[in-house]
Order: sequence, then C-alpha cells, then structure tokens
Amino acid sequence: MSQTLNMEKYARLILETGVNLQLKQGLIINAPIEAAPFVRLLVKKAYDLGAKNVHIEWNDGELTYLKMKHAPMHVLETFPKWKADGLLEMVRDGYSLLTIYGPDPDLLNGIDAERITAVNKASAQALTTYRDYVMNDRVTWSVVGYPTKAWAKKVFPDLSVVEAQEKLWDQIFSITRVDQDDPLQAWQQHNQLLEKAREYLNKKQYCKLIYKAEGTDLIIELPDGHIWHGGSGRSENGIPFNANIPTEEVFTMPHKYGVHGTVRSTKPLSYGGNIIDDFSLTFKEGKVVNFTAGKGEEALKHLLETDQGGAKRLGEVALVPHQSPISQSGLIFYNTLFDENASCHLALGKAYPNTIKNGSAMTEEEMDQFGVNNSLIHEDFMIGSAHMDIDGVTSDGETEPIFRKGNWAIDFNNLK
Ligand code: ZN
Ligand code: ZN
Repeated sequence: MSQTLNMEKYARLILETGVNLQLKQGLIINAPIEAAPFVRLLVKKAYDLGAKNVHIEWNDGELTYLKMKHAPMHVLETFPKWKADGLLEMVRDGYSLLTIYGPDPDLLNGIDAERITAVNKASAQALTTYRDYVMNDRVTWSVVGYPTKAWAKKVFPDLSVVEAQEKLWDQIFSITRVDQDDPLQAWQQHNQLLEKAREYLNKKQYCKLIYKAEGTDLIIELPDGHIWHGGSGRSENGIPFNANIPTEEVFTMPHKYGVHGTVRSTKPLSYGGNIIDDFSLTFKEGKVVNFTAGKGEEALKHLLETDQGGAKRLGEVALVPHQSPISQSGLIFYNTLFDENASCHLALGKAYPNTIKNGSAMTEEEMDQFGVNNSLIHEDFMIGSAHMDIDGVTSDGETEPIFRKGNWAIDFNNLK
C-alpha cells in the first residue's frame, strides 16, 4: 500500500481514535520540526474536523542538545513562567493535547546527567498543574510515534537514513493497525479486548502480584480500591480517547510501601537522551534500596535521586502479553511508547490518580495513607519476557495464575 495513503489513515486514526477531537475544540500539538509535513497534514485534517485552533509547539533535537551543552546551569534550572501559563491557559480552555514522539535515543550522550535532571525537574515543577490536567484525564490527550531520522537509524543502523525511515514507517503502520482495511474498526475491537482484561482484574481485586523470571523475584502489593485501566479512557466530560497509539497494556498502581524483592530490566530504557540498560532494582517496603546497571548506572542514579523519595518508589504496574504485535516484531525500539507496549513494565515515580478510587480528589496525606506514590517523574521500564510468570493473590489468600511464560493465563473470550 502506498505510504501516502497510510499516512492519511494514520492522521485520521490519531485525530479520531487518539485525541478524538471534537467540534470547536482547540488542539495543542508537540512535534519535532522534522515532522512538519506530517504535522501540516494533521492540522489540515483537524480543521476539517471542526477544530477552532491548532497550536504547535515545535522542538528540535539539535537545538535541545546545544542548549543542554552550553547554557549556564541557572538557565537549565528555570522553566519560563510565561510558557507554563500559556499552556495552562489552553488546557483550561479544553484544548486537547497531542504529542508526536520520535526522539533521538542518543541525543544527550555525553551531557552531564545533572544537567539533564535539572531541566526535567524544572519543567516538571513549572508544569505541575498543566500535567495534572493530563494525568487526571481532565482533557483528552494522545502520544503517537513518528520516525525521525535519528530514531530510525538507531532501530535500523545498517540501512541508509531513507531506507531506515521507510522501514520504521512500515513498522509503525503495522503495529498501529493502520495497514488494515479499517484501522478505526480494528481499534474498536482491540479496545474491547483490553476492556475485558481490565474488567476481569477489577473484579478480582488481587491484593498482591507475584513475579518470577530470570533475575526477577518480586512481590507487588496493590492498594485497596485500585483500578485497572487499559485501551480507551474517558476524559472528565466523557469523551473516549486513546492516550497512547500504540497501546497493548492494562495497568494500575502498586502500593507505594508494598514492593519487595528484586526486578531485572529486559529492554534498554532511553531516559532523557541516555541509555540505561541491563539493570536491576531491589525494593524494600516499596523503596529502591539497591541498584546495578550494565550501562548508564550514573543516569539511573540521577533518575532515582530526582526528588525526595518518590522517584525511588513505583507508580505503575502494567501487564502486556509477550505475543503483542510490537514484541513479535522482534525489534528494540529505544522508545518507551513502543518498547513499553511490547513488554510487562513498571514505572518509577508518580502514580496515575485515576488508578485508585477517588484518587483525583485525595489530599497529599490521603494519598500517602492509601499508598499512592507522588513524584516529579513517571518513568516506565520494561521487565517482561517469554519466561515471566505472574500470579495474583486474592484477599482470601488464594493464588491464581495471571501470566504463564509471558502471556495471559486467562482466556478472556471464553470467560464464564
Ligand atoms: Zn504503562
Ligand atoms: Zn507509564
């Protein structure tokens, strides 16, 4: 099928299934400047769908690198207030938020981890309220992939840039079901299956998950009233949307004080332009008390020390079958949006408030009391493999299989 046609179908999927843009709604698009032709296509379609305004926030890897390398520390430690205010004004006005995502995984190689942490911290602090709109689904939002040159070369290092980009486009089209006759219909079915999985787990209300795999022996307690999500969500005013395209996960929050044992990563994590790989985290009462990394140990250390302790605890536990299309591609994408949907994963840092009953209305004390983690970061890392077994423990102490050899041990299409 021609790339132009697939590009059209992808744009439509993003706007209708992803952010589900409504008549007279505004839209913010974060995008790399390299993606300008595709962004123009999106903008045109957004206005066709009745958008009132489309605001673009451009970024450029090389410019980011130059600032990271040369700007004085006090500049990196500040995030412009006018910018935070402007973004906040738009989401308050009901704007939807779309992020076109395809960063160079090696962009910040050689930049001091301290400088990277300073920038991430400053933006996280300045954008706390803005980010709350997103993390609480007060507006519809979506993150989608785009094959930038640098990213494509990282995934297919032996190909020319042009070939690598073409090949990554093909992967994206197949993984996001865009190459199927009716991608919107395919997503409806996919969302239904994820809904069955999350409803099953919500009924079960397991109080504990037990993970076993090579290098992993981990117990994760789930807080009372935890809620599993997956597939399409709903914004505050009831608009269904898909926050990630692709998405293959169902997820909830761990109890911030209830994680015990050791977990080993199974895919590299690209964090702020650095690769952290082959790492292990050991938890005691929910907190990382020990860690090792084959690569990027310094970056991992800084990640864990981003704030006063929340970065050392978990905020998300997600289940993804090993036979997901991304996993079957056999590729390592060096891009969390894709790699996290190939594999069971956890996230260090902030929990999504909607993954527990009344989470969005809790005070800081209540959050702590219920075991809801808070942090400046939310960083997914991959732990799943074809060898992973996961059991659930019910409130009456019954142990039941959830995953065997990396895949669901439950047949959701034939539930009693
Ligand atoms: Zn996730
Ligand atoms: Zn996450």
